[in-house]
Amino acid sequence: MNFKRTLILFIVLFIALSLCSLFMQFPVWVFYVLIALFLLLLIVGSFSMSHNFFLKSFTNLNSYQSDAIALTFDDGPHPLYTPKVLALLKKYKVKATFFCIGKNAEKYPELVQQIVDAGHTIGNHSYSHKPYIGFKGTKCWIEELEKNDAVLEAILGKKPALFRPPYGVTTPHLAKAIEFTKHTVIGWSLRTYDTSPIRHKDAMLKSIQRNIEPGAVILLHDTHKNIPYILEHTLIYLQHHGYRTVSVNELIDEK
Ligand SMILES: [Zn+2]
Repeated sequence: MNFKRTLILFIVLFIALSLCSLFMQFPVWVFYVLIALFLLLLIVGSFSMSHNFFLKSFTNLNSYQSDAIALTFDDGPHPLYTPKVLALLKKYKVKATFFCIGKNAEKYPELVQQIVDAGHTIGNHSYSHKPYIGFKGTKCWIEELEKNDAVLEAILGKKPALFRPPYGVTTPHLAKAIEFTKHTVIGWSLRTYDTSPIRHKDAMLKSIQRNIEPGAVILLHDTHKNIPYILEHTLIYLQHHGYRTVSVNELIDEK
């Protein structure tokens, strides 16, 4: 159920209840429950990309026929951890996708170049990645997307086709901005919580291994001290269990 259908359904329900209340008495709380339910659906829809509530996104390849999974790295490039991630990907001969923040790419263009030279894919992850960016208006979103596109295009020679919303938050404003910029929106099916300050890295690793499944898009960050350990052990696990690790583009192509 997407946003437009949900909105129409609730408007119809509201009108029907209002008409019925002309003939029989409804307690006012019935209307409050309806409004609360609608707001709850909006919140769930904002934070769950896999439901495609506000906009269409690719979160995994829904097929057990495939042995492919995609590793994705958000929030970089980072001067310390991105080179470590690149070295590990090279060691295990796998390709991945990096969703770069524009202001970081501007600061470390040589790292963006290294990512591309190694055969990996670059995606847009907004220019600023500000904490409340998810709830900005359409104009602000278009500025964020285009500003990062310009930074990445200056390094890569072409605009990135992929975009991942910061924090995985989507809204009608972002949906309108994407209609304008035409990015392909990418979510994830497995969140690793690899930047968590309270979880032990072995617990994170176990959770990844327990939840991984064919066609998964795995969310990682090339910005945290845990990443070399988690990535290397995940790569060993994937190789050992016969998974093919591909870029998000390749996973979409297998659809
Ligand atoms: Zn992010």
